[in-house]
Amino acid sequence: MDVIELLPRLHLLLFPVGQAYLWQDGEELTLVDAGPIGSGALIADAVRGLGRSPQDVRRVVLTHFHEDHAGGAGEFAASSGAEVLAHRLDAPFVRGELAGPPPRFEEWELPIHAEVSRHLPEGTPLPPPSVTEVTDGEVLGFGGGATVVHVPGHTDGSIALFLPAEGVLFTGDTVAASPVDGTVIPGVFNLDRHQLSDSVRRLADVGADVACFGHGAPVMRGASAELRGATAR
Ligand SMILES: [Zn+2]
Ligand SMILES: [Zn+2]
Repeated sequence: MDVIELLPRLHLLLFPVGQAYLWQDGEELTLVDAGPIGSGALIADAVRGLGRSPQDVRRVVLTHFHEDHAGGAGEFAASSGAEVLAHRLDAPFVRGELAGPPPRFEEWELPIHAEVSRHLPEGTPLPPPSVTEVTDGEVLGFGGGATVVHVPGHTDGSIALFLPAEGVLFTGDTVAASPVDGTVIPGVFNLDRHQLSDSVRRLADVGADVACFGHGAPVMRGASAELRGATAR
């Protein structure tokens, strides 16, 4: 797994499918998403590689329940003691109480999904010991205050996180960057495309400078304009 420094306090963790982000506040670390099944040990290695201990990671905030984001959360929480947080509408799926609803695929998404699925490990994620539920507008204690933005559409309980003091936005899969040319596009494999479009518009309006996606290269400046461009795609 590759670990890339985006900002002095922000690292990108690249998994075979999807990516996660590590935010540093002094001694305390926050993980945004946790990769697919099997990522728990890789994340712990990445944290040690930065000269820190996995126990320094206080929380894992999940942008949504999909396996390429939540699959490693239980493994990492079990070894580090980190608190796992998710929106209340996705939390039952993260806890493994219920199977999450599959996306309503567009015809053109099917071959892409088949290709992505080939790279995802088989099996069922280890559920986290507990999941703390978050709601729209809640402010989490990292990055100078991280506002939870409920952005339904990709899943019902999808959230983004906006750090106003830093101008940094974590979009989850509501927005992505094209693997081909980096174009910022609305997310794929959604439950409700119309809801998703509204959510992308909402994220374009938060005033982000940096945007970190669930898939694809982050935008490191002028993110709002790029997000506005995505609303037209
Ligand atoms: Zn997803
Ligand atoms: Zn994803």
